[in-house]
Amino acid sequence: MVDVLNRMDPPSEPCLYRLDAHDAFVFVNTQWLMFARANQPPETAQQSLVGSSLWDFIRDRETSHIYRLLLQRIRATRGRITIPFHADTANQVREMEMELIPFAEGLVQLRSTLVSLRDRGDEPEGRHADPSELLILCSWCSNICTGEGKWADIEVGIRELDLFSMRTLPQLTHGICPSCRDIYLKGLPEGNDI
Ligand SMILES: [Zn+2]
Repeated sequence: MVDVLNRMDPPSEPCLYRLDAHDAFVFVNTQWLMFARANQPPETAQQSLVGSSLWDFIRDRETSHIYRLLLQRIRATRGRITIPFHADTANQVREMEMELIPFAEGLVQLRSTLVSLRDRGDEPEGRHADPSELLILCSWCSNICTGEGKWADIEVGIRELDLFSMRTLPQLTHGICPSCRDIYLKGLPEGNDI
């Protein structure tokens, strides 16, 4: 996935940061700072990162939308979420795992750890989405369509479609899942097709 937050180097130590209820950084660990220094002007220090917005680091619309949904969900359910992703290089396949943990007052901790590391060999690099490929989200509940007639919540959907291993995400579009169709369109008088 094209996302600076997932491009840590080296990945041997967990990269950890915490966001406040408004998605501003309130804490970043040394590993994160090493990454930031390698990718940003040298004057970038913890002080300048703390207080800045997560959204300054995620540029593309699709990734940003998925992260917003994940954060929304974790703050609403207060349950942990674990998402697999890749932080590959040209020569190495690096399987990572990102754990999102909710705390009080909208604070969320995101911690990424290395799960496995291997030489790429002949293994192809993560794929780019096809231009015609669409990622369908339910407008009502934000579930993801994972296949013909199949829907899953955001966490399961990301896993099933292996979205965070992709170098670019498919274009987002919205629809309605069968459960929401039943709930929201049931009460409408006959003949009202939506
Ligand atoms: Zn729905």
